Amino acid sequence: MGSDFKKIDAHIHFGTDPHVASKTIVPYLNPDNPESVIQYLSEQDADIGVLFPHDRIFSPPWDADYDKQNMQVGRAANQYPNNIVGVARINPTFGAEHTSNLLDKYTSEWNCKGVKLVAGYDFYRPNDMKVMGPLLDKCEELGLTVIFHSGDAPRDLPSLQSESAKRYPNVKFQLAHMGMHSFLWEAIIAAQNNDNIWCDMSQAFTYDIAIFIEEAGFQKLVYGTDAPYQSPRVESQKVIDAAPQIEQQRAIFRDNAIKLWGLSGLAE
Ligand SMILES: [Zn+2]
Repeated sequence: MGSDFKKIDAHIHFGTDPHVASKTIVPYLNPDNPESVIQYLSEQDADIGVLFPHDRIFSPPWDADYDKQNMQVGRAANQYPNNIVGVARINPTFGAEHTSNLLDKYTSEWNCKGVKLVAGYDFYRPNDMKVMGPLLDKCEELGLTVIFHSGDAPRDLPSLQSESAKRYPNVKFQLAHMGMHSFLWEAIIAAQNNDNIWCDMSQAFTYDIAIFIEEAGFQKLVYGTDAPYQSPRVESQKVIDAAPQIEQQRAIFRDNAIKLWGLSGLAE
């Protein structure tokens, strides 16, 4: 691209089961191999990646609260603190105490910076404050950013997720996949109505990205590849085609993520 800035990839999965990994687009992004993350970042001219486990539980080994996968992300984050922003996959239905203990451990042991939530896999609603309230209280206390998987009915919907954002204006939210085409307009409306909501464009159609930028503003969009399932070449080209101006690209590829993830100390 020949730009004068490095990218921040705000959506990378880590710890792929080796059998699955061999079939993915980034087959070398392997568990317990933090160097592979650095290789992946440099391959796409990025210097920082937001890293979290896969959405679903891998079995074996059984890891119902994602703790083993989270600690694997933590080891990578500890090894490369200037390049890897570690995020924990959390199932809030384990309850306030369990979640609070996990997040205390992650923040103190590996500087965890956020949580990744997939309500459809863990069976709750993102607008159910009985489940979400204790988790979001903890995120506010620890300054953690929340990534919602977005775009799958009936649970992972921007209209439900924005209820959490409304009640917790001090917590920042990233809606992954910007509603995944079918719920694009829910994502646009959520971003328009909430200062604390951003979207990432991983897996989105190029035309949808252009509409999002026109309606919600390029300041509300961050770049993410959804590795190892998508190609960084394809995902970055979609941004370039939908946002031809260099100032838009700089914001989407880098500056917006610095704001959303509080990275000003890391990214000078
Ligand atoms: Zn993903």
